[in-house]
Amino acid sequence: MKRLVILGGGESGVGTALLGKARGYDVFVSDKSEIKKKYKDVLLNNEIEFEDRQHTESKILSADIVMKSPGIPDKVALVKQIREAGIKVVSEIEFASIYTDATLVAITGSNGKTTTATLTHHLLTQELDVGLAGNIGDSFAKQVLEENHNNYVLEVSSFQLDDIYEFQPKVAILTNITPDHLDRYDYKFENYIASKFRIVENQTEDDYFIYDADDEVISEWLENIQIQSKKLPFSLNKIIEEGAYYKDNTIIITIDNNQIIMPTDNITLEGKHNIKNAMAASTVAHLLKIRKQTIRESLENFQGVEHRLEHVLKINKVQYINDSKATNVNATYFALESMDAPTVWIVGGVDKGNDYKELFPFVNEKVKAIICLGVDNEKLFKAFGNMVDVIIETQYMSEAVKIAYKVADAGDNVLLSPACASFDLFENYEDRGRQFKNAVRNL
Ligand code: ADP
Repeated sequence: MKRLVILGGGESGVGTALLGKARGYDVFVSDKSEIKKKYKDVLLNNEIEFEDRQHTESKILSADIVMKSPGIPDKVALVKQIREAGIKVVSEIEFASIYTDATLVAITGSNGKTTTATLTHHLLTQELDVGLAGNIGDSFAKQVLEENHNNYVLEVSSFQLDDIYEFQPKVAILTNITPDHLDRYDYKFENYIASKFRIVENQTEDDYFIYDADDEVISEWLENIQIQSKKLPFSLNKIIEEGAYYKDNTIIITIDNNQIIMPTDNITLEGKHNIKNAMAASTVAHLLKIRKQTIRESLENFQGVEHRLEHVLKINKVQYINDSKATNVNATYFALESMDAPTVWIVGGVDKGNDYKELFPFVNEKVKAIICLGVDNEKLFKAFGNMVDVIIETQYMSEAVKIAYKVADAGDNVLLSPACASFDLFENYEDRGRQFKNAVRNL
């Protein structure tokens, strides 16, 4: 019996444990932190051996194969030891994909993964049997075991791509690349780019690669590498003959002389970035032969994803918008770009080495007040202090929302788009977004 050791007892770890056990492995799960009760119960009920708050080396280094959860960095001593011992280390998507013949649509990128994956799933699920997995919802491995869908839409992080060998999506999407998570890539941007591009490395000429043709990092990289799959770029700026483009409020997608034309006036999603996401998702749907009418209608009735430019409430003609998921400057760039009214902007949190320069034009043009919501707001004051009449700091969401309420006039927007991580004052971005929504509802 082969021994499968799983590092990390979270969603992907426990899913892989279940699949591994069902496929005849001797499975052991080890987590350095405490495993959540709901996952412990699953392991106990399925008689899968595990440990938490420790790693017992002898039990780990006896593995034939190790599944490392995406949250565990390569620089951890134990991971180095495992690799030095010559044990194969795989990610969950690699492991699970071995046990399914389903058509895989894999989506990666610095921003827009969840939105594009959720929208793609929404379009495909109208006519196909399709699971949504990866960094969303139930793990891919668990779904392969229990649901056995014919198709999967997978949201894939660079960490999941770091440990693939044979993972081969029929359709790969790369939404964009901006510097992120560089601490995990020796602070070298090119390492992070290379990791993202691994999404195409096992593709053949029967597969497809959908990507943003306007993204300079992607275009430059493509000039220097060979890829086997058929390219289907999308663009906001130029006409694309094979792929998708946007012109005069219309998305036009052409694949093998088969064209679909979709006006975007009635799409609920806002902002240019969401037109990109819509082009990527609709290209997949068109490729997988979803009817044109279905694509058009489903694009219009898609309500967006929580914490991404989510319209919360209108109070006294002021629109409150929750974009808590904007944890980097690029995401906030698109949020500010899409603002169509004077905006009170709530920003701040854990700065990841942010450079705010690219936001200056939007702040000058659209932002009337800034509320800094973080433990350390100095950099925000320095960057934007001279640009707006009102700049105030607080460390409480309820207070931030009350201040916003006071300074906003009828017709304005109040936007939470932090451009920073959340863990100085909140558990995570979801907690931050929920606190914002509660504070707005309590006004
Ligand atoms: P991810 O899963 O990659 O983090 P999300 O869909 O959750 O992406 O969106 C994260 C943030 O980025 C949100 O603030 C959202 O409004 C913004 N965003 C969404 N799509 C894009 C895009 N294509 N380019 C830039 N920013 C985007």
